[in-house]
Amino acid sequence: MTGSTTFDTSVAHPARRYNYLLGGKDNFAADRDSAHRLIEVFPAVRTAAVENRRLLERVVRHLAEHAGVRQFLDIGTGIPAAPNVHETAQEISPEARVVYVDNDPIVMAHARALLTSNTLGATAYVEADVRNPAAILRSPDLRATLDFNQPIAVLLIAVLHFLADDEQPYHAVAELAAAMPSGSFLAISHATFDPLAADLRRRLTALTDPAAGHGPFRPRTYQEVARFFDGADLLDPGLVSVVDWHPDTAGVPHATPVEAISYAGVARLP
Ligand code: SAH
Repeated sequence: MTGSTTFDTSVAHPARRYNYLLGGKDNFAADRDSAHRLIEVFPAVRTAAVENRRLLERVVRHLAEHAGVRQFLDIGTGIPAAPNVHETAQEISPEARVVYVDNDPIVMAHARALLTSNTLGATAYVEADVRNPAAILRSPDLRATLDFNQPIAVLLIAVLHFLADDEQPYHAVAELAAAMPSGSFLAISHATFDPLAADLRRRLTALTDPAAGHGPFRPRTYQEVARFFDGADLLDPGLVSVVDWHPDTAGVPHATPVEAISYAGVARLP
């Protein structure tokens, strides 16, 4: 599943739609159209995207500052959006090493921007699919960049909700987690419709059904997201709305769980 180079700009893709929602320019009409159909039903979807990106930055900062993590495996990287993981991590620890993984060829086209490591640390980009963890784990670029004798933080931020149940998302996460050195970390953010009132939940469920043409999407409940952490030790504050995961106290207006429609959790792996 690695190395594909074609991309179909007539179909909405998660990386490009998310880029549009974040205010980026690397998207096509199909992505913008898909985003606007979402905005019509759920105007907060831009806030949800921004809050998720903020969460990613807080997770990396927290792990680098408070857990001493120096290695990150960021799966479902997305189109670069500052600050990228290595920028946040290397600001805290210049020797931080980051491997980026995505299956969208357009992210690959932007990989240069992800490979601007300082000279003390390192970054690598691997085009691969989270549904095939073995391919990720045996990638020579990953092996050359990460030291499997030191803890690694696996970041699965806003990506697992693109995996249907029959694509074995729990197996994929378990396989990645099992391959990590002891004392590693697993960080997940995941879309959920739990906070929504029944009527809006029904409308969004209908709109985001894969049959509606937006591509794969599978929001999950609290229990379903919690299952990804089976066997791992959730750090404080547990699995919570992205807006409640170690929020910044510095004056930024705080979005609500209803606007963010995502859970976040970080766990220490055995
Ligand atoms: N993690 C980033 C980007 C989230 S957008 C952030 O939170 O800001 C979701 C990303 O996951 C997109 O770049 C999309 O291309 C990627 N993605 C979707 N399905 C994937 C899969 N099966 N394997 C790898 N990446 C995938």
